[in-house]
Order: sequence, then C-alpha cells, then structure tokens
Amino acid sequence: MSFTFHIFNHNKEDQESSGEIKEMPNKQILVIEDEFDIAQLLKIHLSELCQHVEISHDGEQGLNLALNKNWSAIVLDLKLPTMDGLEICRRIRSQSNYVPILMLTAKSTELDRVLGLEIGADDYLTKPFSVIELTARVKALLRRFDASQGYQTTITPALNFRGMEIHADQRAVKVDGKEISLTAKEFDLLHFFASHPDKVFNRSQLLDQVWGYGHEGYEHTVNSHMNRLRTKIEIDSHNPKYIKTIWGVGYKFIAPETDHKNL
Ligand code: CA
Repeated sequence: MSFTFHIFNHNKEDQESSGEIKEMPNKQILVIEDEFDIAQLLKIHLSELCQHVEISHDGEQGLNLALNKNWSAIVLDLKLPTMDGLEICRRIRSQSNYVPILMLTAKSTELDRVLGLEIGADDYLTKPFSVIELTARVKALLRRFDASQGYQTTITPALNFRGMEIHADQRAVKVDGKEISLTAKEFDLLHFFASHPDKVFNRSQLLDQVWGYGHEGYEHTVNSHMNRLRTKIEIDSHNPKYIKTIWGVGYKFIAPETDHKNL
C-alpha cells in the first residue's frame, strides 16, 4: 500500500477542553473502504465524532448497510470490490432519505461527476489525505445532516418500553427488535402517545397536538392514521396492545412494562 497519512498524536483532553472535538452521541457513521489499514484509521478517528462507526470492505455489502440503517454520514471509497463507489452513491441518492456522503477518490478526473448532479456526493477527499482534514469534513457533514433534519444537536432520549423502542432523533421505531417504517404523521402520533402513557386523548385534542389544525371537522383523519399505525405496530390491530380505543372518548397508550435489561 502506498498511501501516506499525516497522523498526529491526538491529545483528546486538550481538544475536548478547547471544544475542537466533541463527540456527538446518537450519530452513526458508515465507512465503505476496502483497504483495511485506511478503514481502521478512519474508524479510530471518526469514533471521536460519533457513537458508532461501522466498516464495510465490500461494495455490495456496503450498499446494503447504507440502505438498511439510518446513518448520520457515509464515507465512501470510489474503487471497491463487487460494486464501485459511484454506483453505490447513485443508489443511495435514488432513495428519499437524505444522508451526507463524503467520497474518497484516488483520481481527480472523476471529481466533476462525483460532486455533480449525476452522482450527488456532498464532498470529497483525494487520497492521500490527512485524517485531521477528513475529521473536519465529516464534522461539517454531520452539522449539515442536523440542519437537514431540522434538529438541534441536543439529544432527545429514546423511549424504551418492553417490546418497543422509539428514537425521536432518528425518527425510528422498533417493535420486538424489528424496525417499523412509519410515515411522518404516524410517527408523530405514536411519539405523542408514547410520551403521555396512560392518558386518554380525544380526536380533537390529537388534531391540535399532532396536526396543529386547531379546529374540528377532520376527526376521520385521526381515525384513518390510527388504523394505519395500528396495522404497523400491533400484532393484532383489532385487539391492540399498545394504543387502546376508549369508546366514546378517544385513545390511550398503554405503556408496556419497561424492559430494564435494555436500558
Ligand atoms: Ca479502494
């Protein structure tokens, strides 16, 4: 391997006290890079920026990981076995979820395509690169990600119940360990209920709180969203375990016993 890296001895405490490097919990970065030494180096340095760094050394496997989890940023090498970085980037961009992508390229002739509309990466670095530069670029991408989500970098704690986890920051829900795909409103509705367990809400209160319409007349909207939400999160939507119908009044969320093992 012929790459040279400029590795500086980080003094983590110094940097933390100067505010230069701050870990961002709840952030996850995927690195798709087939060269083991580079991948390891990236893992070490990016771990200072986020909670979790995952490495893939293969193109197709990397693409699967990229599409099946919520990443805060992806670092993507151009030349990879089984599928190249351009194709991976194109496929990620054909999805509706935005995730910032930093491409690692060896040749500058590809740059126009990489950054252009055709491929749609957010940034690039040409090998060999300094890890300090890489860390700075990824930090910028993480900030961009937060801005695109409209989130502050403050963290909303996850709601953990037995059998159900709700992660507001990632807008992700897991029921019995399985990720559930919800629309924005279905998520808002579930999150609102789960934040107020055992409290009964009528339909016009839900409209005010979740939709913000501020007026009555669209109560069937609540019913139809509730029905769809139940078919997604309940094992038997006619005999719901999580969100009960209180006849003549509205609905309430029954908090399943918190599973302390998972906390
Ligand atoms: Ca490579």
